[in-house]
Amino acid sequence: MLEVNNLTVEVAGRRILKGVDLEVETGYTNVLFGPNGAGKSVLLMTLMGFSGYNVTEGEIIFKGEDITNMSVYERAQMGMGIMTQRPPNLSGVKVHDLLKIISKDLSGTEELAEAIDMVRFYERDLNVGFSGGEIKRSELLQLSAQNPDFILLDEPESGVDLASIELLGTTIKKLLKMDTKCAGEKFKRGKSALMITHTGQVMDYVEADRGYILCNGTVMCTGNPREILSEIKEQGYEECIKCKLMKM
Ligand code: ADP
Ligand code: MG
Repeated sequence: MLEVNNLTVEVAGRRILKGVDLEVETGYTNVLFGPNGAGKSVLLMTLMGFSGYNVTEGEIIFKGEDITNMSVYERAQMGMGIMTQRPPNLSGVKVHDLLKIISKDLSGTEELAEAIDMVRFYERDLNVGFSGGEIKRSELLQLSAQNPDFILLDEPESGVDLASIELLGTTIKKLLKMDTKCAGEKFKRGKSALMITHTGQVMDYVEADRGYILCNGTVMCTGNPREILSEIKEQGYEECIKCKLMKM
């Protein structure tokens, strides 16, 4: 589904990512861990194709095509979607109008809006005055309308209170499995995802297949996400850097 090879990225003239290699197989949900400032958000924004993220080396292959130089619009058309860490406030753009622009068929999205109590936000300006949790729920609605088959999630649980994390987690899980009525199979993982998580809380609801640790713009290691998370909790990220140096 997604293959990232030797990706090196500059932001505002500074090299932030250095030779990142990473892969997300079709139907997999892989997670990315890393300390603050490691370059995790920069990686996701670069994968989605936002401006200001200058790829100086390497390539991004999505569904077998080199998308390194494609626009964000083209990537979205190909089935890539994102929940960013801090989406902008859009004064004058109503939530419901935006959903209607994203998709003509909003039946599934309307249902979701009821379930996550977002119908009452339809006539509000996007994200203006929204709480942390409301912003995340509004992002989920937009993702549901877009219905991408590869989703980038940047710390979905950040700014969400403990009681709401369950709703968020189960909704993401549902989004990742949408439209997967395969012959002879009841529930196949139809969607793929790359998810950043600081705390690992979202992994209580969304099953993760593979974990990566990003430190100082470089992938330090990859493996079983639960094992990686417990090592980080026990030893912190300092040990990752030492471990990487030992392997070199
Ligand atoms: P995190 O791993 O916490 O998500 P980020 O990817 O947001 O970290 O940031 C990595 C580094 O890139 C930080 O030093 C940050 O200040 C810098 N950076 C990110 N975005 C920009 C930007 N638009 N302009 C300048 N520097 C940026
Ligand atoms: Mg970030």
